[in-house]
Amino acid sequence: MTMLVAPGITLMALQRAPLLDPVDQRILLCHALGISRTGLITQSDRALTEDEAARVSALLQRRLGGEPVAYIVGRREFYGLDFSVGPGVLIPRPETELLVELALERLPPRGRVLDMGTGSGAIAVAIAHARPDAQVTALDVSPDALAIARRNAELNGAKVRFLHSDWFTAIAGEGFDLIVSNPPYIAAGDRHLAEGDLRFEPAGALTDHADGLSALRTIVAGAPAHLAPGGWLLMEHGYDQSAAVQALLSSRSYTEVQSWHDLAGIARVTGGRLS
Ligand code: GLN
Repeated sequence: MTMLVAPGITLMALQRAPLLDPVDQRILLCHALGISRTGLITQSDRALTEDEAARVSALLQRRLGGEPVAYIVGRREFYGLDFSVGPGVLIPRPETELLVELALERLPPRGRVLDMGTGSGAIAVAIAHARPDAQVTALDVSPDALAIARRNAELNGAKVRFLHSDWFTAIAGEGFDLIVSNPPYIAAGDRHLAEGDLRFEPAGALTDHADGLSALRTIVAGAPAHLAPGGWLLMEHGYDQSAAVQALLSSRSYTEVQSWHDLAGIARVTGGRLS
């Protein structure tokens, strides 16, 4: 079998003429060789053995086939923490850090937080890690996702209670000071679902198989029964959904309804407070 990368090639030569996005290639090289980013520089004269060339070739080949880097290496950084990820969960996105920041700003001492549709656990674990006094609950309908989320809480030493639940079903009668969610919000048939990393991510984490707002509607409708007076509901949503989500909140008993922009300047999180 011909290899993408020939044995004997040096790390310097490989990086001078990258076969794919240089950042992606660097991550994959480090992973295949078990070295750090610094190692890539200090060992730039290192020539790949037959075995190493085969390992590097295999990883680059997978990336060229479209597979997300995070799934190939099995991890992704989020909010300064390391998360284990696999095809059973959405890859944590930098814009979701905005939701964590807004939640931390609103969390009272020893506050009770609920993360709905936790996936990899990124949001719940980041909150619990930053605020060990908080009582964090995270739920998901996918047992595979919950297994990954549990591992991530352990990896990061975060205390989170995980529940297998289809939205509100497993939390009847429970109250929270803050509810957060990054639910599936891409509409059925949206072309983004057929592009890039999204092709490899679980459809159930990305799309509601409807107009993109059905999960958001369910959360907005159900949250008041579980929110303490003055408690906030904060939701991530798509680039063009802030007006629709504000309207959903305003049509119910929420006050201070507003949206916040991510680093790309997109209205990305919308929330309201129970009066
Ligand atoms: N932010 C993701 C994307 O557009 C979608 C995540 C979601 O549906 N919750 O790639």
